[in-house]
Formats: sequence, C-alpha cells, structure tokens
Amino acid sequence: MSQNTDIKISAIRGSFLDFISDPFYYPELETVRYINDGLMIVSGGIIQELDTYDKLKYKYSEIPVTSYPGMLILPGFIDIHIHYPQTEIIASSSTQLLEWLDKYTFPVEGKFHDKNYAQKIASFFLDQLLQNGTTTALVLTTIYPQSVDALFEEAELRNMRIIAGKMLMDRNAPDYLQDTPKTGYQDSKSLIKKWHRKGRLLYAITPRFAITSTSEQLYLAGILKQEFPDVYVHTHLSEQQSEIEKVAQLFPNSRDYLDVYEKFGLVTSKSIFAHCIYLQDSEFDRLSQAGSTIAFCPTSNLFLGSGLFSINKAKSQNNPVKVGLATDVGGGTSFSIFKTMNDAYKISQLQGQNLSSLKAFYLATLGGAISLSLEDKVGNFEVGKEADFVVIDTRVTPLLKLRNARNNPNSLTDIVDELFTLIILGNERAVKATYVGGNLAYEI
Ligand SMILES: [Zn+2]
Repeated sequence: MSQNTDIKISAIRGSFLDFISDPFYYPELETVRYINDGLMIVSGGIIQELDTYDKLKYKYSEIPVTSYPGMLILPGFIDIHIHYPQTEIIASSSTQLLEWLDKYTFPVEGKFHDKNYAQKIASFFLDQLLQNGTTTALVLTTIYPQSVDALFEEAELRNMRIIAGKMLMDRNAPDYLQDTPKTGYQDSKSLIKKWHRKGRLLYAITPRFAITSTSEQLYLAGILKQEFPDVYVHTHLSEQQSEIEKVAQLFPNSRDYLDVYEKFGLVTSKSIFAHCIYLQDSEFDRLSQAGSTIAFCPTSNLFLGSGLFSINKAKSQNNPVKVGLATDVGGGTSFSIFKTMNDAYKISQLQGQNLSSLKAFYLATLGGAISLSLEDKVGNFEVGKEADFVVIDTRVTPLLKLRNARNNPNSLTDIVDELFTLIILGNERAVKATYVGGNLAYEI
C-alpha cells in the first residue's frame, strides 16, 4: 500500500567523514564529523539516515548493504571552475595566459562547432570527473550553443549536478570564436529556458573575461541576469598582470578590474570569479559585500606562472569571501582534487600560510557547495541532501600503505593525518568508487 514502493532504498557501510561547519572560522576538530563504522541509508537518491552501523543495523536489516571495509567515504568533490573543451590540450607547454589562449585554447575551442565532436569530449570529460571523485562542477564551454547542449545532455545521462553556460566572446578572439552581443544574449536565453533547473542541471551566464567582451555584450549579460536572477554568473578576474593592464586599457573609465563587472550588474551572490590573484583590498571587500565567490585554481596558477592566491586574505574574519577549489583544466594540470589541494597547500606555504588537511577537504566539499549556493543540496551527509559521495582507499599505493599503516584509524587526529597523506601522495587511483544520486557511477 505504500506510495514509496518504487523508490529505491540502499545502504552503504564504511567510515564516513564530512563537515558541519567551516574550519577557517571554528576550531577545526569541531567542524568535522567522523563515523568510523557507519551506515548510510539512501532513498530515491536522497540521504535518509546516517549513523553508526550498530545503531542502524536492526532498523534496516532487510536492506542489502554495500560494504566498503577500511574505506573512507567522503561527500563527492566539487570543482568550481573547469573548461571542458580544453580537456585535450591539458599539459600544453607555453609561456603565459594570453599567449596560451592564442596558441592552444582558441584553436581547440573552434572544434566544438561540431556537435558530435563536442559530445565525444563532453562524455570523456564527465567520466574523468567521476574517476576523480568529482560529482559537482561549474564548467565553461565555448561560444557554440551546441557545445553547451552536448555537455548538458551527457551530464543528464549521468544525473550529475553540472552548472554551465555558453561562453560569451565578441572581440579579441579569432572570427570563428566570436558571437555578437545580440546572438550571445539570444542563444544564452534559449539555453537558460532549455536547461536551467532541468533535473540537476543549472545555468551560468559566462562571459569569458573582460578582454573578450565589449561593453555592449557585458551590458546584455547584465540584462539576462536581471531577467533570470536565479542563474549564475561565471567569469575570470585578475589572473595575470598583463591581463589586468589590458582590461584597464579597454575600460578606461573603470576604477579597477572588478568594477568592469560591477557596472553591468554581474557581481552578485551567485557570481563566481576564477583566480583573483591580484585584487586590491577594496575589490576583496566588494566581493565580500556582494556575497560572490572566488575559484582558487592552484595548479593552473603555478602552470601558467600566474601568481600566488592568498586564501587567508579571502577567508578573513572581517570581510570573508566565499572560496571553492578548482582544477581549471586545461590551464590546470590535473582533474584530481588531491593534486589541486597539493598545489593549494604549497601556494599557502610560500606565503607563510598553512592550509590544513581539514581546510583543504572542506573547500572541496561543503565549502565548494556553499560557494555555489548549493549547500541545501550537496556538500555533506546531512539528511535530505543528494547522495553524491566518493569511496577512498587511503592505502592504495605501496607508499600510502606504508605511511598509513594504522588499520582503520579511530581518533580524529589520526584521520586528519591520513587526509593529509592523500593531499601529498594521493591521485585518482585512491578513488575506488563514485556515487551520484545514490547510484554507482564509477568503480575501479
Ligand atoms: Zn579558466
């Protein structure tokens, strides 16, 4: 008689770790929850219950349990800035940003005019995310609407929480990669109507950056945001000095780089700005007031020689700015969130800052969800959230096995240490399985 007879219920057993608050602002060990032998009950893709195995085993004794003994189960990772068309140019040697765009990025983006090609790369790209334990991502595409359709179609097949939008570019790019203010506006509008809030998919208005959009285009992007206040805005900000100088030439009436976007109503609580390495104090303050987000892209910032982002400055007590971690493939060097944390750690060290393992994993999970205004849906194991999670083997390589000799660490300090070994020694091999909406989406 139950109306829920069609809803799939499943149970997962393992060691669960997630965050309940922000370790940048609260005593670290109080921000994390760790259940050494836990059981998670998932119903219709939603977390129904999580507690110790002993507490729940009789209540759910009829449900078959998928067990991961000795494995660590974390919320699915969140990558808040990544370019899917650049998948195949990752690891292309070059000098710095503007030359790298001309030499590698623009030619490859031209190939995405072909929908079949875009579909092939989108499929490969999303599978790469899953193999690395990433279940939510904010993704850049190309100017071609069909490249956006291809990504969303593939994401829908996998039931992934993907945010993306058509790239807007109407100058300072090859002719074949330019739209116009009007076509950019119209194409974006059609795509918003087609994809925003379809299943788990969400739309982001995406001017590439101030250099490749005219004032007319940015103005219309702002109009779109007014017409669809629920969609995101996603762009780049203050990545390299030569870029900042060029923006100042192109927008002589703007007091700084952020002001270019502010003038057009693009700095909002659902705006995500990648890089933000050379912001003035006032720009940090204004991002804080607007409730906007910075995407910290450490592997890319090192690879392209961009500079050292100050996480402590962004996560200040007085004017905090939301921050998430991002791979920024193909400027970034890896799809792996572990590798991304590794470079984030080194960038912090070079500035006399210490990025603890809990802070790093927070940024990749609950912090990432908050930075995308998705904390009511993903980011931790709160009951009612979507069951996206990743199963990690902290002893997957001989070296990790030697280093993490303790079998099933029980104390929180032991597990904090083990998380740090993943940051320094881990890679995608440590990801044993990835679940999306409670369903197995990838398994080694
Ligand atoms: Zn980027």
